[in-house]
Amino acid sequence: MATKKKKKAKKHAPKAAKAEPESVAIKGVPKEQVRETILTVAGEHGLEILRYLGDKKNISEFVIAEKLKLDMQTVRNTLYKLHTHHLVMYIRKKDRQKGWYISYWTFNKERVSELIESFRKQNLEKLRERLDKEEQNKGLFFICSKACARLDFDQATDFEFKCPECGTLLQQQENVRTIENLKARIREIEVDMDV
Ligand SMILES: [Zn+2]
Repeated sequence: MATKKKKKAKKHAPKAAKAEPESVAIKGVPKEQVRETILTVAGEHGLEILRYLGDKKNISEFVIAEKLKLDMQTVRNTLYKLHTHHLVMYIRKKDRQKGWYISYWTFNKERVSELIESFRKQNLEKLRERLDKEEQNKGLFFICSKACARLDFDQATDFEFKCPECGTLLQQQENVRTIENLKARIREIEVDMDV
């Protein structure tokens, strides 16, 4: 009888040191946006933790701390921040030997694009408000270049467009470029959002 030798791939092949990925990759979302959003929400450590978690499931908080060489307090604080924005999910299990609870974490990748979207909406609202204000006051003010006075049109006329304090010729307050900038930024966001 021929013995069939099955060659099993060794499960414990020595692991090559894996280089950390440059960013948390989310399909269809620009890297830089993902990075910025995570940094805003949970800082550098947040980014580090999510990079480490990647597609892994249910990773113990202790393992995270150990692998990233962070203290438990930092890990817990950061996970808490991430969790506030639903970027991570966890389960808690009692450790039979030690008798305490340990939480196990998973990166909720789908949440990233939602979060980006909601930040965009907030940003868009703020920009629109600013634009409104700028447009309502478009060219209505005159200022002294030495900053002694800021006059509306009627006042400026009364003083023959000279500063009442120092006599310097008043300049119309220029916000056309500000308005243009705001409009451009709003358009950019709108294009991204398909609105
Ligand atoms: Zn002046």
